[in-house]
Amino acid sequence: MGKITGFMEFERVEEGYKPVGERVKNYKEFVIGLDDAQAKAQSARCMDCGTPFCNNGCPVNNIIPDFNELVYQGDWKNAIDVLHSTNNFPEFTGRICPAPCEAACTLNVADDAVGIKSIEHAIIDRAWQEGWVKPRPAAHKTGKKVAVVGSGPAGMAAAQQLARVGHDVTLFEKNDRIGGLLRYGIPDFKMEKSHIDRRAEQLVAEGVTLKTGVMVGELPAGSKVTNWSQETITPKQLQKDFDAVLLTGGSEQSRDLNVPGRDLAGIHFAMEFLPQQNKVNAGDKLKDQLRADGKHVIVIGGGDTGSDCVGTSNRHGAKSVTQFEVMPQPPEEENLLGHGLCKPCCHHFGRIWRRQRQPRQCQSYHRFHRRLCHQRAQGVCCWRHAPRPVFGGLGHSGRPPSCPLN
Ligand SMILES: Cc1cc2nc3c(=O)[nH]c(=O)nc-3n(C[C@H](O)[C@H](O)[C@H](O)COP(=O)(O)OP(=O)(O)OC[C@H]3O[C@@H](n4cnc5c(N)ncnc54)[C@H](O)[C@@H]3O)c2cc1C
Ligand code: SF4
Repeated sequence: MGKITGFMEFERVEEGYKPVGERVKNYKEFVIGLDDAQAKAQSARCMDCGTPFCNNGCPVNNIIPDFNELVYQGDWKNAIDVLHSTNNFPEFTGRICPAPCEAACTLNVADDAVGIKSIEHAIIDRAWQEGWVKPRPAAHKTGKKVAVVGSGPAGMAAAQQLARVGHDVTLFEKNDRIGGLLRYGIPDFKMEKSHIDRRAEQLVAEGVTLKTGVMVGELPAGSKVTNWSQETITPKQLQKDFDAVLLTGGSEQSRDLNVPGRDLAGIHFAMEFLPQQNKVNAGDKLKDQLRADGKHVIVIGGGDTGSDCVGTSNRHGAKSVTQFEVMPQPPEEENLLGHGLCKPCCHHFGRIWRRQRQPRQCQSYHRFHRRLCHQRAQGVCCWRHAPRPVFGGLGHSGRPPSCPLN
């Protein structure tokens, strides 16, 4: 464990963003990663809680407490080795993973979770900078041939692991560049494609053969799935030519809306719109690119794909962008009801923190929050019984007049 009292001393610090006015003028990444000192302080917040739920929360089971400890000690080289032991491409996950590890973090119970994703991002960026990420070709060949169909992150990771144990791997991709939806889906401003190109070079150096523009089998007639293949190969042929075939084709079928007017002009799937911009960013020329310049754009869906369409439309220069989402608006603040506050008090303090424009990051909130949790642990149900100094940091003493507990 880095620093025993780290989680009490240091607040969570988020990665920075480039100013909106600057970032909408280009397609470069706009997240500014932590510097070394920030990463050290953030890793010191890891409590080494004994049962690291973060490790199970992470889909690739990253060994999070261990790399946190190594970053805190300044041992970045071993930190990347630990990270790479479970994750082939931390620069992908450190940028675009939704970080379920942080939701699972024990510190998240009573405070802000450890910024695991930002630490991961810092470790891998430092590793590339230092030249620590190198090809690791197999020492012995098995003589077995494996075909991997589909070059998204799943196919790339599988190809890498198979090549490193000595198999002769060929990675097939129907599109003209490898990377799957990371290449032709996720916009460059979330993840620049040079990260995929570097890994492609590493795969080749490790002995993987990349075959792009090759469709295995065929798409159903009328399919709108992105397809820039030049040639096809039958599954039968693959079975004949290889000892094993791995299918890592992802899930590219868009979900349609069966509503009146769906067939009108100007209505497109996100995956017709986004890949084109990525192609243009890569330097390709496209005829009749779908563009949002000067248009009033409506985006249906408020998830990652929807936000990518908003960001791309803004960068095109749309006149307006309106987004629809079927789910209710997420709360601006943590649900304080869960911490034993009555509803009027929640609104009262929610308003104060919002007005102060420092919700959740502000010291007074944390002081209050911790002391309230402490009170609750001792069986106090609401702030009714809490001593007044609890609220001192907020410049307030006393309940709002509307509190039913008055
Ligand atoms: C717009 C968008 C934004 C997203 N944003 C995020 C995000 O912010 N965070 C996040 O975690 N996830 C995000 N995702 C999801 C993420 O990209 C996918 O979960 C991930 O790429 C899946 O990886 P995969 O390797 O399984 O498949 P894919 O990335 O889909 O790769 C499959 C590859 O197989 C190829 N292929 C398929 N069939 C054949 C065939 N018969 N022959 C040859 N090649 C074939 C395809 O062309 C494709 O390149 C987003 C997805 C989209 C579309
Ligand atoms: S951010 Fe990293 S550690 Fe967290 S869940 Fe994603 S891959 Fe795992």
